[in-house]
Amino acid sequence: MKYRFENFGGIIASQAPPFLAFVDRDYMRQLGLGDSPLWDTEDESVGLLSAPTEVHFAITNKCSLKCPHCYMAAGQKDEKEMDTDSFKRALDVLAQMKVFHIALGGGEAMERDDLFEIAKYAKQKGLVPNLTVSGAKITPKIAYPNFIPFLHRRARRIIVSDTNNGFLPGDQP
Ligand code: SF4
Repeated sequence: MKYRFENFGGIIASQAPPFLAFVDRDYMRQLGLGDSPLWDTEDESVGLLSAPTEVHFAITNKCSLKCPHCYMAAGQKDEKEMDTDSFKRALDVLAQMKVFHIALGGGEAMERDDLFEIAKYAKQKGLVPNLTVSGAKITPKIAYPNFIPFLHRRARRIIVSDTNNGFLPGDQP
């Protein structure tokens, strides 16, 4: 069971069904998870969360659809886009912080060749990867070797964006 201490008690991650439970100090003790230095203060209301529960990575600004209504103004790849190793180092830090979920989006995340490598690394580090994609790149050739096995083994939540409904690339908003 993955959990994290907080000033008020802790956060527990359930696998099935998937949810995060915010519980008090007594309940953490009842679960046999021990005490935390964060509990040295009597005031359980002090402080914010020790870390985010979920972090969103826009792993690319590239998206060939270039929808006119895109809130990210996605289209061209950013010249300063992080490489694979940089994302892995960032995931190392987030894992140390005991972040629970990592959302991978864009732009169109599937326009990066290393999307599944990054997602797999996140999973290895104990982070639950969530993918946010438009669906436009999920062809049978990609889906069967990559996407479908990923759905079965690694993903917790799939969001297929519907933002292109009613618009075609090049339409005016
Ligand atoms: S598919 Fe999504 S990310 Fe790509 S341009 Fe359209 S709204 Fe933006």
